[in-house]
Amino acid sequence: MVTKFIADEKPQKVEVLDTTLRDGAQAKGVSFDLQAKIRITLALDEIGVHFIEAGWPGSNPKDEEYFKEIRKYDLRNSELVAFTSTRRKNMKASQDPILQKVLDADTKWITVFGKSWDLHVTDVLKTTLEENLNMIYDTIKYLKENGRNVIFDAEHFFDGFKRNKEYALKVLKTAEEAGADRIVLADTNGGSLPHEVYNVVMEVKQHVKKPLGLHMHNDSGCAVANTLMGVLAGASHVHVTVNGIGERTGNADLCVVVPNLELKMGIEALKNREGLKMLKSLSSLVYELAGIPPNPYQPYVGDNAFAHKAGVHVDAVLKNPVAYEHVPPESVGNARKVAVSELSGAANLVSWARKELGIMVDKREPAVRRALRRIKELENKGYSFDNATASALLILLEEMGLRGKTFEVKDWRVISEGKDLSGAKSWSVVKLGNGEEYLEAGEGIGPVEAIDKALRKALTKVAPEASSVKLIDYRVHLPKASKHTESDVRVEITFSDGKEFWTTTAVSRNIIEASLKALVEGIEYYLIKRKLMALRGMMVP
Ligand SMILES: [Zn+2]
Repeated sequence: MVTKFIADEKPQKVEVLDTTLRDGAQAKGVSFDLQAKIRITLALDEIGVHFIEAGWPGSNPKDEEYFKEIRKYDLRNSELVAFTSTRRKNMKASQDPILQKVLDADTKWITVFGKSWDLHVTDVLKTTLEENLNMIYDTIKYLKENGRNVIFDAEHFFDGFKRNKEYALKVLKTAEEAGADRIVLADTNGGSLPHEVYNVVMEVKQHVKKPLGLHMHNDSGCAVANTLMGVLAGASHVHVTVNGIGERTGNADLCVVVPNLELKMGIEALKNREGLKMLKSLSSLVYELAGIPPNPYQPYVGDNAFAHKAGVHVDAVLKNPVAYEHVPPESVGNARKVAVSELSGAANLVSWARKELGIMVDKREPAVRRALRRIKELENKGYSFDNATASALLILLEEMGLRGKTFEVKDWRVISEGKDLSGAKSWSVVKLGNGEEYLEAGEGIGPVEAIDKALRKALTKVAPEASSVKLIDYRVHLPKASKHTESDVRVEITFSDGKEFWTTTAVSRNIIEASLKALVEGIEYYLIKRKLMALRGMMVP
């Protein structure tokens, strides 16, 4: 009976307020500059969140500048929201300079946060319970009189409700009477559990008529679950941040809340119907601009979210994806990954060959076994093929007799030089051969750039079609800890021809040699793939 009851309370639609730029920016080590804030705003608007809470005018000049700058852009889906506290104690709202700055930010919507836990009023704010209610009432009333819509954020609501329910509810009613358009229950300390949130929301909605919202922090690891339970109890407005970034352990993660609402609960949460498919790229953008390494284990958008490693899984997922995937990876803009590894069987390699190169090969063929043996030997030397599909496939192609060298590096040399520590320059020469020999030079800031340029110049003679290959990403890693010898480095390079992406890897004590090897393999892979595709095209009637 409980499940039926839950289903009855659930709204059809939920409004999403993203606060990455305000609450998320309070995360340790995160600071977005103006350009980053604009880029994130546009990405959020594109996926179609209802509200973007973007800053606290009056708290810092950067946020004021942002609200000026963002006016130049036309947002298609989202409303901008400025954030502020209630007026200061013992002062008129119209005289509070911070509220003036908030109005100057010129947004239609404003979030006002106020205290709803009596202990915070008396011990932190150091004022009377009555004056706190006045501060909330006056602030909201004043902003409403100035033509703004107000989201009231009841700080520490769940803790307040547990300790002094009467007062916590009085705070909400005061905000409602002053004209607040949304009443948000915040779990500011993040300590609540899902069943508590459900019960509290069920009770609160007996007292409050305005749409209820939730603002959940993740200190008990339940921010997402708490948000969903609050929605099941009838809340229709949720606060989230991209990747869950925020103070301490962060906020409810947009990248998990939104797909759960839309894909699992049948609740519309984005204004753009195609928005969900941009989730992975939104997540990556925010990691990049926040300077935080992405979490590969993040649900839906993490690099491992649809990665299959163990051989049995791979076999099954190729037969029917539903066997090991809870939703299709494309639904959130992610992709299935099949990793070749020590754990896996030949099924992984065979599936790669089929997916990437269109080659049908049986996993019992001796060439597959030989290729796997070589891959495992390389893994023991510190290689990792989890991302570098192209390098693993080149080994398979070689064992199948399909690699046939288009060119080969005969000789290379790099010189790096600088006068002080800020003006380095590098020069390189590369000699290629494919019957004839070509020697070319290149210049760059770093040695890898110099050698890439020399290599490409020589390649224009040997394989001009390689000119459309671009270097997208270059990373240097230490090989897996247990396996690397002191000075080995592992290089990983990602390439694209504008349509597809592929990654190669190489390990060496010499970082330049490793880079050159991965560069050469990346171009070789592209040339072979083109040849195979053309061949298949010819064979198709
Ligand atoms: Zn918060």
